[in-house]
Amino acid sequence: MQIGLDLGGTKCLGVALEVTSGQPLRILAEHRLETPEGTEAILDTMVEVAFALVESALRSGVTSRTAQGGSGAGIIEIDLGVGVPGLITRDGVMRASPNLPGMYEVNIAEQVSQRLVGKLRRRATPPELRLTRVLVDNDANCAALAEWTYGAGVGAQDLVLVTLGTGIGGGMVIGGRPYRGRHGFAGEFGHMVIEPQGLDCPCGQRGCWERYGSGSGLAILGQQAAMISPDGPGIPLRAEDVVAAVRAGSVVGAQVMESFARWVALGLVNLANILDPEIIIVGGGLASEAELFMPEVKRLFAELLYESSHRDHPVIAVAQSDHRAGAIGAAVAASLPA
Ligand SMILES: [Zn+2]
Repeated sequence: MQIGLDLGGTKCLGVALEVTSGQPLRILAEHRLETPEGTEAILDTMVEVAFALVESALRSGVTSRTAQGGSGAGIIEIDLGVGVPGLITRDGVMRASPNLPGMYEVNIAEQVSQRLVGKLRRRATPPELRLTRVLVDNDANCAALAEWTYGAGVGAQDLVLVTLGTGIGGGMVIGGRPYRGRHGFAGEFGHMVIEPQGLDCPCGQRGCWERYGSGSGLAILGQQAAMISPDGPGIPLRAEDVVAAVRAGSVVGAQVMESFARWVALGLVNLANILDPEIIIVGGGLASEAELFMPEVKRLFAELLYESSHRDHPVIAVAQSDHRAGAIGAAVAASLPA
């Protein structure tokens, strides 16, 4: 069986699956815990969620036993995939994570593996459980794999996923394989500079795409347009407030959303000019509001793409996976050949 974990700033969500090529998604179990503070507590939480999922999956009658028979009979093999935000090396070391303060240079693969193996060994009742693999990947890479396997990009050879959340994340499949870059750091689309004299980004640069085309970007655009927050002056406007204003028919809100769509389109055009993908999938928290901005994003994309009228365009789609995309994709990642 595959266990996938999605570690975020506020929660650690996990799913248990049996990934079988060409078969529809079947989630055996789902579990979540709040993300605590501190590296040790976070590692323990991940292990706790993984262990709870194993127990639930066993109760649901998981069948993925070793196929060799003989001495392998009665053993259940577990592949664990972990999606985490930030810069993750290809061997599972978290170099840095903006959403998890203090987590620098943490060997997540090794730490989680040791702790989970210990916990599985201490389990007294059969069947025997064997942790065969632990794979740690960037959370947006995982979300891209979820869309590629079960979502809007099934069958695509060249796929780009862009997650519009508090920031902007990205993941790619190129030539029918997940693409992570030489060191594992590919897909940091959110820090592509699109306005050199623009807003300061927590990363130290100015004018990064995610300062404009993300949820926090939408909030900033709303503030710049001097929209009145329903919570009164002095309380920062949130992306949700802009969305609510647009839905309530606000003219200023609609202008803000149009300007937001332009920033999103601009980034997508840059990506398409570089990568020429088959499909670009827009996911993340803002995908649930896609109807408010995607028609304009698609219109502008078609207008701004290099030599637009003389070429094939990528499909631009909205992600189909729900909030479990990262966890599902982490499980998929663990199921793929190394
Ligand atoms: Zn940045």
